[in-house]
Amino acid sequence: MITSYHVHSNYSDGESTVLEIVSAAAEQGLDEIGISDHLVYPKPGRHVSWSMSVDRLGSYFEELHNVQRVVGDRIKVRLGLECDYEPETVVLLADLLQRYPLDYTIGSVHFLGNFPIDESPEHWDNLKEEDRNNIVRGYWQRIRELAESRLFNIVGHMDLYKKFGWRPSIDLEAEISEALDAISAAGMVVEVNTAGLTKPAREIYPSKKILEMSQARDIPLIITADAHKASGLTDGYQIAKDLLDSLGYSRNVIFSSRTPKMLSGI
Ligand SMILES: [Zn+2]
Ligand SMILES: [Zn+2]
Repeated sequence: MITSYHVHSNYSDGESTVLEIVSAAAEQGLDEIGISDHLVYPKPGRHVSWSMSVDRLGSYFEELHNVQRVVGDRIKVRLGLECDYEPETVVLLADLLQRYPLDYTIGSVHFLGNFPIDESPEHWDNLKEEDRNNIVRGYWQRIRELAESRLFNIVGHMDLYKKFGWRPSIDLEAEISEALDAISAAGMVVEVNTAGLTKPAREIYPSKKILEMSQARDIPLIITADAHKASGLTDGYQIAKDLLDSLGYSRNVIFSSRTPKMLSGI
């Protein structure tokens, strides 16, 4: 069973249309394809160029349904979104999401307050070491809150702050443990996101250590590519699979109507 559940189309910041992505997935022999365009709930005074706007959600889901009809039973199309968890907007986001026929949601943290975690290395370069460490500590508290909100199925690229190659110089094991305890209690899945391999981080999100901590809590894992074009749906897949093999992990998970279903074997 091969799936690709973290995929961006041109409804947000991807290059390809939904039909191009789904057709490519079917040609490559994937069993399921999930489209998960960005939805950052709007806040006054902030424009997020890479997010779909709320008023396009209706046509987004309509298009996913239409493309499923076009490809028929060649491949199963799953309806997803990658949404930002922010405490100020979570109630409004929850109200919005329950109006749509989602199979799953990816919850991510791209902002801590107004600080963009993964936008550009300059944002990090301009900070003192202590301030960077504090941002990462706050990031893990935010991941814990994300899980406690019970609004998401998959937690996205869990140590995204390493994207530009920098890593915290303080011990955050307690904060990470608390976040993972909340993820486990919420019945969420952790993604093994290969996008970090081609960034200065040169590593899958999250690190092997965090994956081991997830496994100790029996949290299900899912390999994703965070693809932004139809040709990248399984980028890094074998590297991720080798990593999971080395951890002795051999399960898979699919989603329907926001309910995970565990399968044996990757
Ligand atoms: Zn993301
Ligand atoms: Zn993404």
